[in-house]
Amino acid sequence: MSAPYYPPLSPLSTGLSCSCPRCGKGRLFEGFLTVRETCPSCGLDLKNEDSGDGPAVFIIFVLGGTVVPLALWFETLFEPPLWVHAVLWGAAVIGGTMALLRPLKAYTIALQYKHKTPHRPPGV
Ligand SMILES: [Zn+2]
Repeated sequence: MSAPYYPPLSPLSTGLSCSCPRCGKGRLFEGFLTVRETCPSCGLDLKNEDSGDGPAVFIIFVLGGTVVPLALWFETLFEPPLWVHAVLWGAAVIGGTMALLRPLKAYTIALQYKHKTPHRPPGV
């Protein structure tokens, strides 16, 4: 009996749907950011998948490049008190981070799977 065939999937589609990079059906996460040990659909071993700080760096660049110009534009136009900036941009950064972190982590893991990044033990 031969092993099942899994056609290559787009890392973008599996990342955005937070699903398994091999089959695209099983959920990648249990909880908010914890990667499952195995895919519940195809059994892919996921316990050594680690996206590291990559998703956080992308979020810092995207949100920093978006929120800072918006805050400067808002200040120039309306000159609100500082607490308005703190509430408005704090909520934008926290909300943006919560919205982007899962799909970017899943996308990073899907890219590692696609390019067959070797699994290394921690600290190496
Ligand atoms: Zn799977």
